[in-house]
Amino acid sequence: MARSAHGVSSILAIVRDKMGLTVIKLGGSLLTDKSKPYTMRKEKFREIARELKESLDEMIIVHGVGSYGHPPVKEYKLYRGYTGKENLLNLSKTQSIVFELRLEFVRALQEEGINAMIFLPSSQIVAEEMKIKKFCIEPIKRFLEMGMTPVLGGDIVADTQMGYSVCSGDVIAAYLASELNAEKLIFATDVEGIYTKDPKKDKNAKLLKEINLENMDELARLTGSAFTDVTSGMAGKIEAVRIYKDNLKDTEIVILSMLGEGNLRAYVKRMKDAKFTKIKIN
Ligand code: ADP
Repeated sequence: MARSAHGVSSILAIVRDKMGLTVIKLGGSLLTDKSKPYTMRKEKFREIARELKESLDEMIIVHGVGSYGHPPVKEYKLYRGYTGKENLLNLSKTQSIVFELRLEFVRALQEEGINAMIFLPSSQIVAEEMKIKKFCIEPIKRFLEMGMTPVLGGDIVADTQMGYSVCSGDVIAAYLASELNAEKLIFATDVEGIYTKDPKKDKNAKLLKEINLENMDELARLTGSAFTDVTSGMAGKIEAVRIYKDNLKDTEIVILSMLGEGNLRAYVKRMKDAKFTKIKIN
């Protein structure tokens, strides 16, 4: 027998009260090899999915597109926005290419028992000069409350000024965490957090336990040239948090690595050896 609408909503209210939502952004550098176009780290997918399943209850997964998204966006210059009808077939193809990554990863999530459900930002978001202007999140909220795990990734979305524009997974994750009052916002990538310099380029780089958004200049001074080396990658995450900072004050925000198994688990279980950088807002 179908449950009455009232019955369902009271069950959902109980579910909502009990759980702390985590929005986790899985970086493109984690799911793909960014140095090789169109290369997934397929062998890692099940391991990542298993760790997610074991570590988190209520979650929204946002994924980067890495070497599946950046090459076609660059090749077809899609970052410029709408320039004429002749580029629309390339936009169509790019979306399908990214979908291959999405689908492969979602299959790994399902194999580990995660009720993954794909949502497409291009069907839900309207941007204005690359900033989210409208985001219809009600379907995400409702399926989340029923126990589904929404999965979204970076996408190309309609833009009131540019026709279309790139919408990054980092921004989508920060937006959702702020709108849905998430308990945690986790950026999982291929390095253990924010270092004093890019750790791939400087082996003396030191992992920072915590950075304060209000305090970035001071931090740069203390650590010497600290943030001059931050590429748009790490800077993009900090910027995404900064946009929504007023609504993220009660959300714990961290950057960590999921390249090796166990780090997410260690962070969630508050183990001493967990490695991550916490982003404080004030
Ligand atoms: P993702 O695709 O996983 O979201 P990005 O590739 O955009 O992540 O950003 C992560 C990368 O940023 C790391 O692989 C690292 O090489 C680079 N990076 C640059 N500067 C820093 C820094 N100061 N601390 C940590 N990583 C940095």
